[in-house]
Amino acid sequence: MKITFILPAIGKKPGKKYIGTWKMEPLTIAMLKALTPSSVETEFFDDRIELIDYDTKTDIVAITLETYTALRGYDIAAKFKAKGKTIIFGGYHATLCPDEAAEYGDCVITGNAETVWIAMLADYEKGALQPRYNGKSGYSLLHPDRSIYADKKYLPITLVETGRGCHHHCEFCAISAYYSCDYIPRPHQDIIDELQSSKHKYHFLVDDNLTANREHALGLFKKMKPLQIKWAGQGTLAIAKDQELLKAMKESGCELILIGFESLNQQSLYQMNKSWEAALGERDELVENIHRAGISIYATFVFGFDGDDEQSFAEALLFSRKHRFYTAAFNHLLPFPGTDTYQRLKEENRLLYDKWWLESDYCYGELAFKPANMTAELLSQRCRDARRSFAKLPSVISRGFEAIKRNSPTIWWLFWAMNLRLGEEIDQKMHVPLGRHLDEKPK
Ligand code: SF4
Repeated sequence: MKITFILPAIGKKPGKKYIGTWKMEPLTIAMLKALTPSSVETEFFDDRIELIDYDTKTDIVAITLETYTALRGYDIAAKFKAKGKTIIFGGYHATLCPDEAAEYGDCVITGNAETVWIAMLADYEKGALQPRYNGKSGYSLLHPDRSIYADKKYLPITLVETGRGCHHHCEFCAISAYYSCDYIPRPHQDIIDELQSSKHKYHFLVDDNLTANREHALGLFKKMKPLQIKWAGQGTLAIAKDQELLKAMKESGCELILIGFESLNQQSLYQMNKSWEAALGERDELVENIHRAGISIYATFVFGFDGDDEQSFAEALLFSRKHRFYTAAFNHLLPFPGTDTYQRLKEENRLLYDKWWLESDYCYGELAFKPANMTAELLSQRCRDARRSFAKLPSVISRGFEAIKRNSPTIWWLFWAMNLRLGEEIDQKMHVPLGRHLDEKPK
């Protein structure tokens, strides 16, 4: 038996390469490889960096779907299905939209594949493949098998999981919808073993909310300290109020934390169900706490809630410049399927498309709903203006000198690589057509 794993890409502009910063190691594929018995032959096509060989001799084509890549994933499936291959879908989009995925394939795995992968393969061998396997949330004791992408070139950063899910319920968040507001911590020793065997110096702890379980995170950071590694991760502003946690994070090698501020507007925070963040207190002081601990911040903002207007962009920019964040993202709200935001906008008759992710004329960077206080086009434009303004060279230089105060010299290069590249990519990322031009070079 042979399985061909495929990671579909978002899309690209004709004649252009795929966006560089979108080329991180695909952890899911390495996990599926680890779960697959060695008697089964495997291969992997990463649609972001190489052409897919539709004539490859294989039995099963396993495609992992995200919402942005669903259209492309279905297109790839159709090409392989025409050649008689068995199509299996998984990934968070397949979990949130299993009936939709079922229209394009033979089998859909929902939830975490770890608990059902072996049973699914056994059923296939018996000729009794089921149309649906519902995986439970959990971990395998296996480590991701990164040999599956040995011949591929990714950014030199190892991605590691320390847990899955998040206990919060932010209105727009697909992760909270996927895990039903649950958080599952990964055993400490598994994480430490994986970090120790990593071939890279830099690590990205991919959890959406790294400190969702405070005691689990604190214990882990203490065990990571002797490893003397450098890492970045994602958390919430709540860490700013926890000096013990901040100290342990820094000592474990944390250099950079991505924090979703989302909005400086209280009304918007309440609408997105982040009242807990609004209640944390004065933003300036919270940011200073994190900076004083020697940790830089990647700040993210999202615009499009009903309290947002033109002033919201100016405030977020001013705040980001004032604190000289390591970097910042100014994004528009996007209604992901399965989220309360999607449901609310649908009930208010404000969706521009029923399923924007399947629309061939929908492009990355565009809105898929009608905002309350400006047009969809203007909101998208203002996000781009904010990115451009923040990425101007004087801003980058000033923030770069601030970063060296907090970050070790060994990771300072990352600041320049990230900020200069982000600046270059602002226009490249706008209006990328979903699922298009991916069967052609350059990649
Ligand atoms: S805190 Fe972050 S990961 Fe958790 S629900 Fe909110 S947006 Fe999602």
